[in-house]
Amino acid sequence: MQGSLMLRLLVLIVIVSVISVGFVFGCLPERDPAPGIITEDESAAEQEVDLPVSGDIEDDETANDLEDQTGDEAEEEEQDQVSEGGEETVDSSSGAGDGGSGFNRDSLKVIADGNYLLALVTKETTLKSDYKPSDLRQIPSYMNPSYTMYLRAEALEKLEQLWAAAEADGVNLLGIRSAYRSYSTQDSLFRDYAGRHGEEQANRFSARPGQSEHQLGTTVDFGGTAVDFQAAYADTGQGRWLADNAHLYGFVMSYPAGKEHITGYIFEPWHYRYIGVGNAMEWKQSGKTLKEFLEEKPQMFE
Ligand SMILES: [Zn+2]
Repeated sequence: MQGSLMLRLLVLIVIVSVISVGFVFGCLPERDPAPGIITEDESAAEQEVDLPVSGDIEDDETANDLEDQTGDEAEEEEQDQVSEGGEETVDSSSGAGDGGSGFNRDSLKVIADGNYLLALVTKETTLKSDYKPSDLRQIPSYMNPSYTMYLRAEALEKLEQLWAAAEADGVNLLGIRSAYRSYSTQDSLFRDYAGRHGEEQANRFSARPGQSEHQLGTTVDFGGTAVDFQAAYADTGQGRWLADNAHLYGFVMSYPAGKEHITGYIFEPWHYRYIGVGNAMEWKQSGKTLKEFLEEKPQMFE
């Protein structure tokens, strides 16, 4: 009698164990993927971010470059969004796999002095490949705790004032996604985009090396929101505050909405360039795009 009871108990334990194991291995992963289990989507996204980080990046810039890459991946989303919006009718097929876009570096006007705050950086001009600002300073970690980024001394000083003013107005600017970028960083970045989208298409949202305002060391991309590098950034508290106040601290939105035919770039409400407070106030008054404004200022080319 007692032996039979023990046997029944044993059978019961075995059954309960089998059910438990089945639940853990069969059901749990479906309901809530354990850390380390990468779904197809995550795997693809990870690849997207990792791909552009090539091995030829200088060590001291790796962190910043990584951030640049990540940031600019998102800039692509912005590009897609504009396309979906149908505002611009760009023949995307013409760009695909197109290496011969007719771009001729020799025809560009070479900017004599990148330190000049009003230097005209457009698709018709270029900074020298070895131009690097001499007074780059590391941005404080509260603007980006994850990466080391640099900005010219004066621009950084004004950025800190701008940050504090936003905070006083109850707006937390959250973070900087990208600041100074070297010619070589921009070169690898643009090559990657051109390889995937074609040069023409890539050049709507990413500058060719020598043509990025980020090489000036006076330009930042704000972010930290759920809509970084998207037109929707303009509608965030941060985007609105910047649009209204950035010029008071010398910062100008280089690529406003609906001006791609003038600036050559899609709407980038997160991208601000420092040109000095007096100049920025004058620019605001003018109602012009930064490109038009700078074209009327003295420019020196080699
Ligand atoms: Zn930017």
